[in-house]
Amino acid sequence: MSQSNRLRIAIQKSGRLSSESIALLKAIGIKLQIRDRLLIAHSTNQPIDLLRVRDDDIPGLIMDGVVDLGFIGENELEEKMLERRASKKAHEFKTLRRLDFGGCRLSIAVPTEFKYDSVASLNGKKVATTYPYLLERFFAEKGISAKAVMLTGSVEVAPRAGVADAICDLVSTGATLEANGLREEDEVFVSKAVLIQKSEDLSPDKQALITRLLPRIDGVLQAKESKYIMLHAPKNYLEQVKSLLPGAEDPTVLPLAGINDRVAIHVVSSETLFWETMEKLKALGCSSILVLPIEKMMG
Ligand code: ATP
Ligand code: MG
Repeated sequence: MSQSNRLRIAIQKSGRLSSESIALLKAIGIKLQIRDRLLIAHSTNQPIDLLRVRDDDIPGLIMDGVVDLGFIGENELEEKMLERRASKKAHEFKTLRRLDFGGCRLSIAVPTEFKYDSVASLNGKKVATTYPYLLERFFAEKGISAKAVMLTGSVEVAPRAGVADAICDLVSTGATLEANGLREEDEVFVSKAVLIQKSEDLSPDKQALITRLLPRIDGVLQAKESKYIMLHAPKNYLEQVKSLLPGAEDPTVLPLAGINDRVAIHVVSSETLFWETMEKLKALGCSSILVLPIEKMMG
């Protein structure tokens, strides 16, 4: 593949999505050499280049067809899509996978003294946000006439500064809201990181590479949700033991050398084994109960 035919992937340069985006790329076998100050990073074992930018730029780069793939929070993606659609700019993209990081919610929060019964309490009020399109869509759906005031930063201090009556901002734990004397009230949008692709067709080589990488991503995501469970069980209680194992349709049952009344059971489970279940297994006479993490999976 020539240089121009290298797959271009946009990731956030530094912030909440960077390290997990890079970790996922590494986990699917892409070797990367990232130098902190550089915009571009090349893979040393795949025809892939990373473009490291502010997350705000990623949806536009995809929608303008400048990069092939991007890791981005759905909040940012949806906001930019609405904004570009309103100004009649290209706003197409394909979502390839919803990922297991970057989880947060865009929520309305009010100062503790604000009397909030429902979203209707915001009628005639000003709400500061970095996501005016998402917020205005929410107001339109609920039939509220409130004003979205755009702020690109320090949204949480807007009520205290007298700039707005309430805010609409990203929340994960709620600690920042609390620290600023704000109370979370309504959820406007729930978000996770996603992997997106530009909408125009890619060259067959690039598309073939993506088609090879996606099952690896699925394998990594699935592995993180799964556990490998091993235990020794009395043969007489095999059915009871199986019924206690979560998501264990086809456990592997193996003989134990020199022991006739006990077997080893191995199973890949989509759930973890809780202490309570382990205690029940023990009470049935099971021993050597192990719950192991799985690194990779392929069906
Ligand atoms: P940049 O300099 O790239 O523009 P930023 O300040 O806009 O960075 P970050 O704070 O790094 O962005 O957040 C990036 C994304 O991480 C958010 O758009 C959101 O999708 C996700 N995220 C997850 N949890 C949170 C949270 N508690 N607060 C804000 N964003 C969060
Ligand atoms: Mg940003």
